[in-house]
Amino acid sequence: MPALLNETEAWARRIVPDQVHRYMSGDQDFINDDKIHEILRTAVVPSRQRVDEILAKSLAVETLSPEEVAALLRVQDPETWARMRATGAEVKRRVYDNRIVTFAPLYLSNHCVNDCSYCGLRRSNTAMARRTLSLDEVKKETAVLAGEIGHKRLIAVYGEHPAFDVHYMVDTLRAIYETKTTTPGGGRGEIRRVNVNAAPQTVEDLKVLAEAGLGTFQVFQETYHHDTYAQVHPAGTMKGDYRWRLYAMHRALETEIIDDVGLGVLFGLYDWRFEVLGLLTHNIELETRFGIGAHTISFPRLEPAAHTPFLDHLPYRVSDDDFEKLVTVLRLAIPHAGMIITARESADVRRRILPLGCTQTDASTKIGVGAYSDHASTQDGDRQQFVLGDTRTLDEVVRELAEKGCITSFCTAGYRCGRTGRCIMELLRSGTEGKFCKLNAVLTFREWLDDFASPETRVVGHKVLAAELAEVKTKNPHAYPRLMESYNRIVAGERDLYF
Ligand code: SAM
Ligand code: SF4
Repeated sequence: MPALLNETEAWARRIVPDQVHRYMSGDQDFINDDKIHEILRTAVVPSRQRVDEILAKSLAVETLSPEEVAALLRVQDPETWARMRATGAEVKRRVYDNRIVTFAPLYLSNHCVNDCSYCGLRRSNTAMARRTLSLDEVKKETAVLAGEIGHKRLIAVYGEHPAFDVHYMVDTLRAIYETKTTTPGGGRGEIRRVNVNAAPQTVEDLKVLAEAGLGTFQVFQETYHHDTYAQVHPAGTMKGDYRWRLYAMHRALETEIIDDVGLGVLFGLYDWRFEVLGLLTHNIELETRFGIGAHTISFPRLEPAAHTPFLDHLPYRVSDDDFEKLVTVLRLAIPHAGMIITARESADVRRRILPLGCTQTDASTKIGVGAYSDHASTQDGDRQQFVLGDTRTLDEVVRELAEKGCITSFCTAGYRCGRTGRCIMELLRSGTEGKFCKLNAVLTFREWLDDFASPETRVVGHKVLAAELAEVKTKNPHAYPRLMESYNRIVAGERDLYF
């Protein structure tokens, strides 16, 4: 491979200034640090009536304003926080019911030309063992994820490097979708939805990715605070360009083919209250300009990474209590959005955070490149971006969710039926999407239990299914016969049926 600096220089030409400037007003981007600080500084502790008004808006699935969110962040008394947590859980129930979606990350390569101070994959970490998967290796990884573990949905994770430009991304997406295996239960192992977490792309490359079956496109801003961003992402690297990243989702939505975008903050780099308002401002900007807000919100917290001393001294590290608060407020602030809690967190933290209104979680997670199929390298710290907090299997996670009355949905139908973007936002806000989702969750859960579940998980899973079927029968009697017809076909061995 050519020297890194030349690669970086070559890549700098891939930043297309016009694809940023056309969205800016003069030399201002839409994140005004002073204004966010001012909103936070001038907010006062809200009265009970004010809190009630704001919570009513969340329950009506309306996005809150930055001032309303700043008011919630001022709440001091534990009782009001408890009410906010309960309302967030109710918002989640109204929009997404008791469904949780599971996925796994698939790291395609850990080569990276960037030098983010917090990341084990940064180019100056010479102790990192580097590897990029070949297409055969991608298929091997997919076969384990789809055929042995039972995932239907992946998030493909890429560093940023010329060796895996858009063509590599397209080839790997295709390789994932093409991989079909037989499951231990005699069913079908296949990935039906691939989301992508990658560097910002040009409009042209985004169109190419969309054609190749890109699911939700995720780019985390990491920090919305301009100065902090500059400190942790060195100038002269691709990622050093705050605005190229900030407008990544504008470019995605500009394509009009991509309409599911995922936003996120890497919590711990700057004041979490500022970051919550940054995320909200980003969502409002997209809603205002494109009529489509964030499909998902991610809130990773900084985790330790091998040979990454930056992480030892973090003045803005987020405590578990503050983490709970920020997730509560995000749930209320952007009620339509899916919320993702990952295996970066320990099982105990996930147990505490998930009920606040999360909708997606990963399981059986490995973040070493090739770690699903190459067991020798599995938990080698020198191959991983950071250290995982929860290594439980999908079977264990599904079982625990079922014990709490949640159904794990392996549904990917909404995307395949065009229920995405503006359409899904309207369906989510009106509660209509839930009707399809409930039916598809039941079908895909039954399929998964038959194909992959351990005997213990099957027992508790069937209890959940019985409750779900009874609910459809009473609350949606018109759909019940159609559901049962498909359900019985699944039991008889058919696969991938959906509404
Ligand atoms: N390279 C792409 C990028 O930076 O956008 C995407 C892949 S990166 C591997 C995915 C995300 O991992 C980053 O956006 C960042 O938020 C998160 N991350 C990086 N270092 C981390 C750490 N030490 N702890 C937790 N999350 C981290
Ligand atoms: Fe590269 Fe992403 Fe890690 Fe930054 S966070 S060093 S861009 S992989």
